[in-house]
Amino acid sequence: MNDNNAGSTGGADLELLVVGSANADLVVGVERRPAAGETVLGSDLAVHPGGKGGNQAVAAARLGARTALLARVGDDAHGTLLLEAQRAAGVDTAGVLVGGAPTGVALITVDPSGDNSIVVSPGANARLTPQDIRAAGGLLAAARVVSSQLEIPLETVAEVVRGLRPGARFVLNPSPPAPLPAEVLAACDPLVVNEHEARVILGDDAGDAPEEWARGLLALGPRSVVITLGAAGALTADSSDVVRVPSPKVDAVDTTGAGDAFTAALGWRLGLGEELPAAAAYAARVGAAAVTRKGAQDSYPTASELPTAAP
Ligand code: ATP
Repeated sequence: MNDNNAGSTGGADLELLVVGSANADLVVGVERRPAAGETVLGSDLAVHPGGKGGNQAVAAARLGARTALLARVGDDAHGTLLLEAQRAAGVDTAGVLVGGAPTGVALITVDPSGDNSIVVSPGANARLTPQDIRAAGGLLAAARVVSSQLEIPLETVAEVVRGLRPGARFVLNPSPPAPLPAEVLAACDPLVVNEHEARVILGDDAGDAPEEWARGLLALGPRSVVITLGAAGALTADSSDVVRVPSPKVDAVDTTGAGDAFTAALGWRLGLGEELPAAAAYAARVGAAAVTRKGAQDSYPTASELPTAAP
């Protein structure tokens, strides 16, 4: 194994530390997705940097946030590609560990109607351990906001929560959704979900209105909740307020990765001292910009490319 010194950037004031997954998305276009036992021919292979952690870090850095990524990739060509994409966006990658398993990949086939089939091999993402988090204490101590998702082991996310510096803010997008321990839920400020994740977490009692989902999610223990609602924007909720936040109207081309861009921008702005609705309004502009271009990381805007806020 060829681990970097994950604590090497400790001491700096990080505006956002993303602890999460980095994947290579391997995409092939097909006329028809294959049935069991069938082989079909497809287009040339396209390889895109992805993974929720990698996406969030690139989105924040492109906006100008001082951002670092704590993740694990393989000692292979995909790992090199992912690290280069992070560095090109301005992300501090000193905390990215290398080796232990192949880089995580998502094998994606897309048919002409846009429907896809995806197989994810978590690879190195599944080997980002609680011990790795403890060894990266310098990074955690430097971060005023830490953002995570669930494409890395849940026990690793729990260790992140234990290692937060006093006063640091923890933002979690529980995707893919899974039951969360009370310790993790209590640290979330906010818990950020889309409609699908809200319904999975709340189950049959979810109700129909986002305001109901927000109340149900708050009852699970997070300090605040943000629900993203696609073109309709988002809803923010804490113990004192539930606020609808509209998104700018744009011509959507591809929504891939919009949620990751939204969540990264939200965490960054909260760390700068904005209130939750204002931070969500900024994040909605970022999500809206991201859907106007194809891809995930390729679609993320700089600050000067953001649409004006919805009235
Ligand atoms: P994905 O899984 O595709 O990354 P998501 O389901 O997690 O996305 P969404 O709610 O679709 O998240 O989008 C996140 C944010 O991006 C929204 O809250 C909104 O601000 C913005 N957004 C998404 N789609 C649109 C759209 N069609 N028009 C304007 N803004 C949009």
